[in-house]
Amino acid sequence: MLVGHDARTSGSMFAKAVIAGLTSTGCNVFFAGMASTPALQYAVKNRCMDGGVIITASHNPPEYNGIKVIWKDGIEISHEQETEIEKIYFQNKPLLAEWDKLGAKHELTVVNEDYIEAVKKHVNIAKIAEKNYHVVVDAANSVGSLATPQLLRELGCKVTTINANIDGTFPGRMPEPRPENLQETSAIVKAVGADLGVAFDGDADRSIFVGENGEIYWGDKTFAVVEKQFLIENPNSKIVTSISSSTLIKDVAEAYKGEIVWTKVGSVTVSQTMKEVNAKLGGEENGGVFYGPHQAVRDGAMTTALILNIMAETGKKLSELIAEQPQYFIEKGKVQCSEDKKEKVHKKLLEQVKGENVSTVDGVKIWFEDKSAILVRPSGTEPVYRLYAEAKTQEKALTLIKDYSITLTRILAII
Ligand code: MG
Repeated sequence: MLVGHDARTSGSMFAKAVIAGLTSTGCNVFFAGMASTPALQYAVKNRCMDGGVIITASHNPPEYNGIKVIWKDGIEISHEQETEIEKIYFQNKPLLAEWDKLGAKHELTVVNEDYIEAVKKHVNIAKIAEKNYHVVVDAANSVGSLATPQLLRELGCKVTTINANIDGTFPGRMPEPRPENLQETSAIVKAVGADLGVAFDGDADRSIFVGENGEIYWGDKTFAVVEKQFLIENPNSKIVTSISSSTLIKDVAEAYKGEIVWTKVGSVTVSQTMKEVNAKLGGEENGGVFYGPHQAVRDGAMTTALILNIMAETGKKLSELIAEQPQYFIEKGKVQCSEDKKEKVHKKLLEQVKGENVSTVDGVKIWFEDKSAILVRPSGTEPVYRLYAEAKTQEKALTLIKDYSITLTRILAII
């Protein structure tokens, strides 16, 4: 089993506990120390491990930490498998090894180097190097600083790093790469005249990009850039994406002969579905691109290399690649709803939207003829229903949020 962690203050402490637990059951452990989630996932697959454990709380605030369990193919285990492990834990029933069968612990120090080499195989290095791109990397004071700056230098880019000193208190910014946390990153991209900026989350699987103009692009816009290029090179491919993704992803698939497979929201579901339907590309609107030829998981460094590859191949700036896409306005809203009423609301809402173009993969998503859409979905963590609308005008998106908030409120009043 491979074990590694991100930059959080409790990472090394939890890693020791996980290693003690695994070796007590007779597992041999290879300890990789600090690395990004995708680098560790790649090592599990590439080094033929039986599985892995990554200590990380991903994009969550500094005081959190968590445990991600990785299957031997490098993909996170399913929620059902997680429940099985939790059952063993809470019933205190692990099978402990005898004293002479305890596992051993080894160090594995080449994870980041292996990963950099793996990413490089999927892009045209000479073509990128020719362009002498200047890239700003915002590593969120975490493991994003361990591979990507070196990778980009090896691709011939000039790199300016910010928040690249490892510090588990995340002094530079919050670990989630949301536009409100990236204003400084955007200003620096403009100030140094960079061609591109990339900002990672705490474990560097998610990546959000900044154009040369300082504009911060939400994940589905850059995913669509990757999707278009992928479909030009591989027409008739399946593209796996969560139901919360923009209609933009559907538009690109229709224009370039792709087939969309919608999934529930969550990176594990996207990875698992890619495996099930044998798809080579997946994506999420929050900055997750899953590039199957490398590995079917969210991967920030791989996505950065792909974006640079597309810029180099097309000779276009990121802002130009984005401007070519259909444009949508997105609005969000929420309506309070207690846990016990969520199911009833779902059923009533479905009755009311009969006859529309509806998907119930996760919540209720409706696509309208004028290219607008709304997703009405119960939150998994809070007593609310969340609404995500998009449309060709901001006014229409706002109207959808207003109308469906009223619909939900009316349903709540009668159930
Ligand atoms: Mg993450």
